[in-house]
Amino acid sequence: KKYEANASRYEKMNYRRTGNSGLLLPELSLGLWHNFGNNDDFKNARNLLKCAFDNGITHFDLANNYGPPPGSAEKNFGKILKKDFKSYRDELIISTKAGYGMWEGPYGDLGSKKFLVASLDQSLKRMGLDYVDIFYHHRPDYDTPLEETMGTLDLMVRQGKVLYVGISNYEPKRAAEAFKILKDLGTPCLIHQPRYSMMDRWVEDGLLDLIEKEGVGSIAFSPLAQGMLTNKYINGLPKDSRALKDSPFLNSNQVLENLPKIKELHTIALERGQSLAQMAISWILKDDRITSVLIGASKTEQILDSLKAIENTTFSEEELLKIETILT
Ligand code: NDP
Repeated sequence: KKYEANASRYEKMNYRRTGNSGLLLPELSLGLWHNFGNNDDFKNARNLLKCAFDNGITHFDLANNYGPPPGSAEKNFGKILKKDFKSYRDELIISTKAGYGMWEGPYGDLGSKKFLVASLDQSLKRMGLDYVDIFYHHRPDYDTPLEETMGTLDLMVRQGKVLYVGISNYEPKRAAEAFKILKDLGTPCLIHQPRYSMMDRWVEDGLLDLIEKEGVGSIAFSPLAQGMLTNKYINGLPKDSRALKDSPFLNSNQVLENLPKIKELHTIALERGQSLAQMAISWILKDDRITSVLIGASKTEQILDSLKAIENTTFSEEELLKIETILT
């Protein structure tokens, strides 16, 4: 049966302007790092995208290496685009990235023009797209001149393969240099994608001030600390959770270490009438320098739960103080 998107999808979401640009992004975006690889359930992957779009999530975030195996998330996404979203391409913001190791040899990693150009061409092929809306350099590369890496992003825009460019995981000093080069080239940086959650607040130390000053947007990844800032681990470790599956990125020790804090935060969330996931997302969205919060999900119910965060993004002084005491 042909997929038809929910007619009221745009009534459910708020959209924020990305820095000084013309582009609006939904307060919540969906990332395809996990749950879209070849070992994952294709039907579930399809349902996750439909559920997101039906609720006004217009932005899907990918990278060359998402899977596993690397590239498979883009391939599966391409299949789903073709099957279900063909008529909705102009309602979608699709991003991809390059910067982590992708193929063997000296041209399959980091920030050279050689690597980035080839990687983007591969990504477009896998997804079956003529262009992506946002292309990121995925992480800083201190051995390649920044002029080369940023010059390549500018080239991609001029070639029509990319509409907007961004950087991810750049610390403030390198980010400031990148913004300057891009501005001089006439392709201003649209957005910075840093990790940001209650468990990892490095962006508060200079980065958010910088992007505000430079008129660059931001999208926070791993806002739930990969699922720790939810109610899922409070009563033990569920078998189908990331901490117990094959992820090298989150293990059960990390979860157990943080459990006391998680439980205290859970109590505050309940007092606010929110789930912990909702509060963790609201807490990021309270700052208007953040354009969007980039969640992952293994189940549609998680997307539906997290979406309610946008209904309450203000915190009282007392709540903020209580949270601060738990976190520090
Ligand atoms: P999150 O912190 O949102 O973690 C997602 C996981 O949390 C889900 O897979 C699920 O875990 C659990 N979860 C989500 N919602 C709920 C809920 N409502 N209730 C209970 N559990 C929930 O983000 P990710 O770490 O997945 O990162 C999100 C995206 O950010 C990625 O897909 C990617 O696009 C981007 N990213 C970018 C990076 C970069 O370097 N630029 C690095 C990392 C991520 P479970 O699977 O256990 O069910």
